[in-house]
Amino acid sequence: PPPGAPDIEIARAARPRAILDLAAETLDIPSQSLIPYGHTKAKIALDYVESLRTRPRGKLVLVTAITPTPAGEGKTTTTVGLGDGLSRIGRKASICLREPSLGPCFGMKGGAAGGGRAQVIPMEDINLHFTGDFHAIGTAHNLLSALIDNHLHWGNEQDLDVRRVSWRRVMDMNDRALRNITVGLGGPAHGVPREAGFDITVASEVMAILCLASDMADLERRLASIVIGQRRDKTPVFAGDIGAEGAMAVLLKDALAPNLVQTLEHTPAIIHGGPFANIAHGCNSVMATDTALRLNDVVVTEAGFGADLGAEKFLHIKCRQSGLRPHAVVVVATVRALKMHGGVAKGALGTPDPEAVRRGGANLRRHLTNLQAFGLSPVVAINRFTGDSAAELDAVRALCDAVGAPVALASHWAEGSRGSEALAELVAERLDGPAPTLRFLYEEQAPLSDKIQTVARELYGAADISLDWLAQRGIAEITEQGYGHLPVCIAKTQYSFSADPNAKGAPEGHVLPVREVRLAAGAGFVVAICGDIMTMPGLPREPSALHIGLNAGGEIVGLT
Ligand code: ADP
Ligand code: MG
Repeated sequence: PPPGAPDIEIARAARPRAILDLAAETLDIPSQSLIPYGHTKAKIALDYVESLRTRPRGKLVLVTAITPTPAGEGKTTTTVGLGDGLSRIGRKASICLREPSLGPCFGMKGGAAGGGRAQVIPMEDINLHFTGDFHAIGTAHNLLSALIDNHLHWGNEQDLDVRRVSWRRVMDMNDRALRNITVGLGGPAHGVPREAGFDITVASEVMAILCLASDMADLERRLASIVIGQRRDKTPVFAGDIGAEGAMAVLLKDALAPNLVQTLEHTPAIIHGGPFANIAHGCNSVMATDTALRLNDVVVTEAGFGADLGAEKFLHIKCRQSGLRPHAVVVVATVRALKMHGGVAKGALGTPDPEAVRRGGANLRRHLTNLQAFGLSPVVAINRFTGDSAAELDAVRALCDAVGAPVALASHWAEGSRGSEALAELVAERLDGPAPTLRFLYEEQAPLSDKIQTVARELYGAADISLDWLAQRGIAEITEQGYGHLPVCIAKTQYSFSADPNAKGAPEGHVLPVREVRLAAGAGFVVAICGDIMTMPGLPREPSALHIGLNAGGEIVGLT
């Protein structure tokens, strides 16, 4: 394909290696330990995953980014490019990504398999139904929903208050019409009428549990400890109280096994689990990351959206729970996005404007100093776009120099690993140096509202937080029930450090409005919902779905 060809054309022109051969030759995984899904996808068998636990772990690299704008940043693209770059300079490397959700594929954002010459393949499969994990997660979630309504129907032995059932339903599509619904209508034969609603599958607690579980037993234990609602006396009712965890675990048995695919340049890629980073914890599964680390010297992984969301949750939730620690952190920035943070409209991005880059650089600077506050020493990858000018690139370099963050210009999108060699060398230098000591910004024992406040003040630049009545009541109840020690998972817009998506750059002095808190006892965190963020997104006026179709040859067009 010519330079700049659509992602799907580049992906389709690639010659993938047979996945069993790739696994045997690059990772030394015997073929009987793989469960192939066709020729280019395979699950890694759970008993094999278990057998790796005694091996030492390689080093982990986290890829995160500045605050996203419609101009695009390219974390996944850079994760792929860096993985290929590290392989190119002779490191034994794999990458770990999240599985894409169908909602954004058909909505606004597009798929999540990278772009240009830095993609994972088979791109269509990965972006669509892949190995069926999301189906399994949604089904396990909805089995619990069905068991709850069935419990109410057959006499409600647990004395669950129908007005206080907190467990909702999920589906993997942006469907705003399902946010709030009434179930059980039609008379006594059809259940107990009550208000309910849908979230997108990637916001499901079952998704978070699958991504944080250390093994099958831990998964089942976590499923049993899901809080589904309250009794009239406000005591919590657990999924285990209605006997749901065994059947849910059965539905998730295959989904728990990590999926192996490859990049365009045949670097192994483990793609497993896919919580969003704005309304959930935003990281691929612990099982996948751990497995990859046992099989490689270096593993590159991505956390979703900006570092205020993805990296913060990666560190405070995933690392805290699993004991994983990043050895190096890469912050992806683009000239175009920095210009948008500096006030340039999307239509005017073609005109060089180093001054706007400097203004918008405040966003990058805040993310870098935030990561430094965790005790990490981030490096910056400038994901190069064709139109970037020398003066603009210099402006980004100057800004990074000022906060002591080394920079590499990376053109993997246009050139594959040839374009990411410099970035790979920079990261390799970090990996060969001493491991940083990760410092959490809050103690587990701090009150929930203090934890939210710490993240808001120290990372978002907020003056304070405000708690709606619902949030205040929720925090009091969750604390009373003995879950005050859990970390917080903040749900807020990905487009700003604040709860206002239009506040670009590095806003200061704002107040973070906490609307509601939800306990995710099985996942092991408390979700704090801030501002207007929705746990079931809607489709935009002109969704990508309108441009996706099959051509005369039966091939998919329009998937990005
Ligand atoms: P993120 O993971 O940060 O959401 P992605 O890596 O998925 O971002 O990239 C989003 C989109 O931007 C993809 O369609 C990709 O092809 C495109 N893209 C990424 N980097 C570049 C680049 N350097 N030039 C042009 N397009 C790019
Ligand atoms: Mg991504």
